Amino acid sequence: MIDSLRIHAAHEPGPKLPGEFVLYWMLGVTMRSRANFALTFAIDQANTLGLPILVYQGLRHDYPWASDRHHTFILESARDLYRGFADRGIQYAFYLETATEQTARGVRESPLVALARRAALVVTDFFPTFIQPRHLKRLRDKTDTPVIAVDSATVVPLRAHDRTYSAARSIRPVLMNALPHHLHPIEDAEPRFRRQVEVPFEQPLGAATTDAALAALVASCDIDHTVTPSPTIRGGERAARARLDEFLAHGLPRYLERGDPNVAATSRLSADLHFGTIAIHDVLLAARDAGPADCYAKFLDEALTWRELAHNLVFKNPKHRTLEPVPAWARKELDDHSADPRPAIYTDAALERAQTGDDLWNAAQRSLVRDGEIHNYMRMLWGKSVLLWTEDAARALRVLEHLNHKYALDGRDPNSYGGILWCFGLFDRPFYRRPIFGTVRYMSLKAAATKFDTRAYIRRFPTA
Ligand SMILES: Cc1cc2nc3c(=O)[nH]c(=O)nc-3n(C[C@H](O)[C@H](O)[C@H](O)COP(=O)(O)OP(=O)(O)OC[C@H]3O[C@@H](n4cnc5c(N)ncnc54)[C@H](O)[C@@H]3O)c2cc1C
Repeated sequence: MIDSLRIHAAHEPGPKLPGEFVLYWMLGVTMRSRANFALTFAIDQANTLGLPILVYQGLRHDYPWASDRHHTFILESARDLYRGFADRGIQYAFYLETATEQTARGVRESPLVALARRAALVVTDFFPTFIQPRHLKRLRDKTDTPVIAVDSATVVPLRAHDRTYSAARSIRPVLMNALPHHLHPIEDAEPRFRRQVEVPFEQPLGAATTDAALAALVASCDIDHTVTPSPTIRGGERAARARLDEFLAHGLPRYLERGDPNVAATSRLSADLHFGTIAIHDVLLAARDAGPADCYAKFLDEALTWRELAHNLVFKNPKHRTLEPVPAWARKELDDHSADPRPAIYTDAALERAQTGDDLWNAAQRSLVRDGEIHNYMRMLWGKSVLLWTEDAARALRVLEHLNHKYALDGRDPNSYGGILWCFGLFDRPFYRRPIFGTVRYMSLKAAATKFDTRAYIRRFPTA
């Protein structure tokens, strides 16, 4: 039984009968064949209606920052899903909009709308930011089949909170109280009615697609080919599980050293949590069992408190892409200091190409561009420093959003806005006053050398 707080419906929906099947429109935020609330809900509904379930996913070419990097992660994850769903006897169909398909789409109905028309019910994933809210609304406008969105991204459902929180310390006790009720393995349901559904498009991808064939599919899409696949992070349920196992064995026992970017102490699971190739429930339960307890407690604080604080912000505040959620005191400080002289002003291109006068910042930017990830400590320094080199907070925010979403595999996420807006004072308190930042917390690139071996870090990300 799925907690009703996870169910987001436009109105009290009954199924549209007769329908051929229940459609689970899987989004690129819950790409897993098990431990998935939306999937379980869709199967339960299909079983009640005596219908088969069809899992459909589509990947277009025109979402913002679409590139080889994001496409490759998604196709690798979809390849795993063909295998995972086949093992469960569930039909999964992945539609890829290649350049040829793109031309045809102008004259053909979208595969999603065509399938939704034939379905008794559409179940999809609820996600509070990026393109997903718009796409959900658009589908609801285009079909009279009821569309129900299910929230699978957080441990405590988004709708369980009736307020926003100004700091980690205010949401922490709420989450910890709710944890015993919510932190359990997510139940799977088994479909009782299995019939093959005819889908109105070719499926060039499958469980057996080779890496070379997958790369050719990516190359055939009209997307940004300059942002290359990550050499360090691969997509899919199996890669996510392997990363979790690696973390439990080697990273978690050293998690208290998380502040040092040269120590492999963190999970590096943020892309998996963003694309949903692993459930946060599974991650936390495995970490709790593996211990040690003090490391698990710290990990829980990041993966539960900080992560769900960011999700709450984005869910409750539609203006999360602006400085509006930043508290008034911090916005005033940044405004009051907006005329302070900057050590340098860099163009967008100089920042993107890691051509500032600071080697440490440049190395962090190169790690983002090359690998699609930045260590958390460096990400804070990276984010804070952009304010030093831009005319004002509004431009700094725009630059950070662009660089983060273009290159980071975990970008375009609620955490992106939690992290970026934190650089401007969100979820924080005033510190001592200094130029440009006023009393907003400042982090010094120079002082980083007193905390960890910055030269070793810089050597890891050489100029190409
Ligand atoms: C400027 C800036 C931008 C950021 N952009 C993103 C982003 O686009 N996507 C993203 O997932 N995180 C973002 N973060 C938060 C954080 O840096 C990453 O979640 C973390 O570094 C991911 O590495 P990890 O998986 O090894 O973390 P771990 O330390 O292993 O933590 C486990 C998980 O907890 C969550 N988490 C950890 N730290 C934070 C945090 N501070 N806030 C919210 N959740 C957290 C993540 O889901 C992470 O995968 C940003 C932070 C800053 C300062």
